[in-house]
Amino acid sequence: MKLKQPDINGLLELKNKVSKPTPMIAQYLEVKERHKEYLLFYRMGDFYELFFKDAEIAASNLGIALTKRGKLGDKDIPMCGVPYHSAQTYLSRLIKQGFKVAIAEQLEESDSDIKKNQKIFKRDVVRIITPGTIIEDSLLDDKNNNNLASVYFYKGEISLAWVDMTAGVIKLEHIGGKNFLQDFTESIQKIEPGEIIISESIKNSKILKEELRNFDKQISTIPEAFYDFKNNEEIIKKFFGNKKIQSFGDLGEIDIAAVGAVINYLKLTQKNNIPKIRSIEKVSKDNSMQIDMFTLRSLEIFERYDGIKRGSLIDTIDKTKTACGARMLRLFLKAPLMKKSEIKYRHNLIESFLYNFRILEEITKLLSNIPDLERALARITAKTNNPRDLILVKQFVSFTEQIFLRLNNLKEKNLKELIPDKKILSKAYKTKKIIDDIIAETPPVNLNEGGVINDSVNTRLDELRNLKQIKKEEIINLQEKYGVATNINNLKIKFNNFHGYFIEVTKKNISNIDSCKTIDFLLIQNTINSSRYQTSELRKISQEIESSEDESLKLEQEIYEDICLKIIEITDDLSILTEKMAFIDVITSFATLAELKNFVKPELLNECRLNITNGRHPVVEEGLSKKGDDFTPNNCEMNKKQNIWLMTGPNMAGKSTFLRQVAIIIILNQIGSYVPADKASVGVFDKIFTRIGASDNLSEGMSTFMMEMIETSRIVNEATENSLVILDELGRGTSSEDGLAIAYSVLEFIALKIKCLTLFATHYKDLCDMSEKYNQILNKTLQIKQWNDEVIFHYKVIDGISEGSFGIHVANLAGINQAIISRAKEVLKNIDKKDIEIENKNFVFKDKKENQDNEISNFIQKLDLDNLSPKDSLDILYTLKKNYFIE
Ligand code: ADP
Repeated sequence: MKLKQPDINGLLELKNKVSKPTPMIAQYLEVKERHKEYLLFYRMGDFYELFFKDAEIAASNLGIALTKRGKLGDKDIPMCGVPYHSAQTYLSRLIKQGFKVAIAEQLEESDSDIKKNQKIFKRDVVRIITPGTIIEDSLLDDKNNNNLASVYFYKGEISLAWVDMTAGVIKLEHIGGKNFLQDFTESIQKIEPGEIIISESIKNSKILKEELRNFDKQISTIPEAFYDFKNNEEIIKKFFGNKKIQSFGDLGEIDIAAVGAVINYLKLTQKNNIPKIRSIEKVSKDNSMQIDMFTLRSLEIFERYDGIKRGSLIDTIDKTKTACGARMLRLFLKAPLMKKSEIKYRHNLIESFLYNFRILEEITKLLSNIPDLERALARITAKTNNPRDLILVKQFVSFTEQIFLRLNNLKEKNLKELIPDKKILSKAYKTKKIIDDIIAETPPVNLNEGGVINDSVNTRLDELRNLKQIKKEEIINLQEKYGVATNINNLKIKFNNFHGYFIEVTKKNISNIDSCKTIDFLLIQNTINSSRYQTSELRKISQEIESSEDESLKLEQEIYEDICLKIIEITDDLSILTEKMAFIDVITSFATLAELKNFVKPELLNECRLNITNGRHPVVEEGLSKKGDDFTPNNCEMNKKQNIWLMTGPNMAGKSTFLRQVAIIIILNQIGSYVPADKASVGVFDKIFTRIGASDNLSEGMSTFMMEMIETSRIVNEATENSLVILDELGRGTSSEDGLAIAYSVLEFIALKIKCLTLFATHYKDLCDMSEKYNQILNKTLQIKQWNDEVIFHYKVIDGISEGSFGIHVANLAGINQAIISRAKEVLKNIDKKDIEIENKNFVFKDKKENQDNEISNFIQKLDLDNLSPKDSLDILYTLKKNYFIE
């Protein structure tokens, strides 16, 4: 949903016409004019108020009451508000609906303001929250990065820069070459941006229009000037503390434009409180295994086909305990490793952890207590002033310390090496001690509430707190003294922000106050039921308390900020620790997974081949085991000489599962995990391509067949001899002659030109003749048994060609009308004789009743009565009755 532009121009005209808007409204309009395209949350006391069109939009989208406050001209000013303390919930709802929100706070008065004797608080926008610039935990998904992406395009090259504000690095990918548009689409989809910033001209450029269509909701247009190369060079240098541009690697002009735009946008939205961003990291797809979006989707890596996360690969294998670890695992899956040594390093770590199983269990337990330091650090450096974030730093360091202690006691060198440099640790431990000594165990979430700093930290603070205590006791004594002097039992001394301390008496006791001769009560306010007074001694104590509170709050703030500074000074070190912890979390998660699910350490081969013994599909296996069923493992041996498996077999025999499991084993290996098999020797693959099942993209007006051909064209163009290609059905959706011809020639092209390992599942049995011509093609099928009229699936991959398609059997299983099934069997028998028409004359569809009887008797015959509970039997009877006898 896009922000509906509030009608600011109308407001301004009105403002000019109206002789004198109130000072508050004049101030509001001035701020609003500079933040036209955002909903303006305007701080007034304990509330954020919204006015005019903003109020109407917020009230209707948040379901809160729309009220009014005064008039502009002769029109009421609509208003709605949310309490400051619960603003996060409301913000979260608006941001999720696609709005952007500007937060205007009451600012401290400067000396000149005070001299001018301003009547109202100065207010201005301190931060703009947009979908890509969120740092609040409640607004973020803890297992996923929230990226802000910037796109710049010039003469056939694209620069893509993106940042997760809480992760501290701007990433940059330069995309060129003949497939640059496809590569761009791939990259931007993997980045999963919460927001894309782009200039109007690039957004409307014909070239990128198509590519960006799916991201319409995420796009924010920003001024062209944000991409100015010359300015941006300076801006980047300054932003990173005057580092030389070359220190970030070879950045071209369009890279500088894209990165600079990110920084400009952060400055615009975060004003002076940008979370610390340490560096620019150049990303190149050549450094990792390429898995395109089609493949990620068809292997159901992050979500199932229906978009649900449960039942995806990541859902099955993710045993991480920390949010940082979960985010790292996601990144690992998007970009598996290509260097054998790096893969081996991870495998060996898992092995060492498994060897020290007790320590693994202890570390896993400790990890589950580790807070999300990455995001807490971002909030601290952005000065959000939530003292609880410091407690998170303390907890984080304390648990990491315990984890490193355990690692240090081990013999294994590789595990010991996970412990970071001593200097980093000592800085972190020192900071932890400072927080421990100075910050209260459970401080309030808001620094301004006080009580953040422990006693005995600062003598003046202690004095002030004592003073406050003494003065409060004096007030209690005064209350008693005044009660006696006026003879009012229920005389109370109360407090509010406006008057400070005051005396309150009910209406009926006013005469006692008036007649009191010993004390001089000054009336300050009448309410409906009571009157409020002050005395000079109460005012004096009140002022003393107030000033001691002010002074102690200021002191607390200073001490707090001092600690924050100390943390900010060591953010780089703490970030290294966070990254280490995330990595340890992922590796221990792999080890736990290997132990739980019997995964094995793969042997890494130098060439691109594989030999898997009893491989399994981890997701299908888990699904079956929940139902008490076993998964049938399968072997797969493929090499350069026999690189193509042509798989035929009936539907539901397990072809897709097998194809996917091979791809998943390769991916798991290359993210450094163990793999679901009894034994596996695998090479390192550069790319995996899959074409599985139908994926109509009707919203883009493409038929299944067109999609299939687009995907196939990409595979054929981009696969190398070190890739794995998986094709599950090719050439359907057109005439069978066409389909067969396409499938044949694609397979031949792979056999002769690409020479990569290929698993090809098909219903075209004619293709199997190719194995006679090409030695590299092997025919494989899935073992089944026919018994009476039944087909039993064994899910075992064997040599050979499927004997039949058994489509009619599957149709029967799916519950297709028996008349159709019987007729299909007849047609099938005669199809070769080209005699369908003649046969049809003699074939009569049985009447509905007879068909129904057949279905019921079939159903009853199949029932395993000994294994039916009385409840199941009753349910079956109900179902039969409902389906067959109730019209
Ligand atoms: P196909 O692609 O041949 O139509 P699938 O691979 O989709 O078949 O498998 C159909 C169903 O068979 C799966 O959902 C699963 O329940 C079961 N299945 C597949 N492979 C196995 C296996 N190796 N062991 C046990 N059950 C399996």
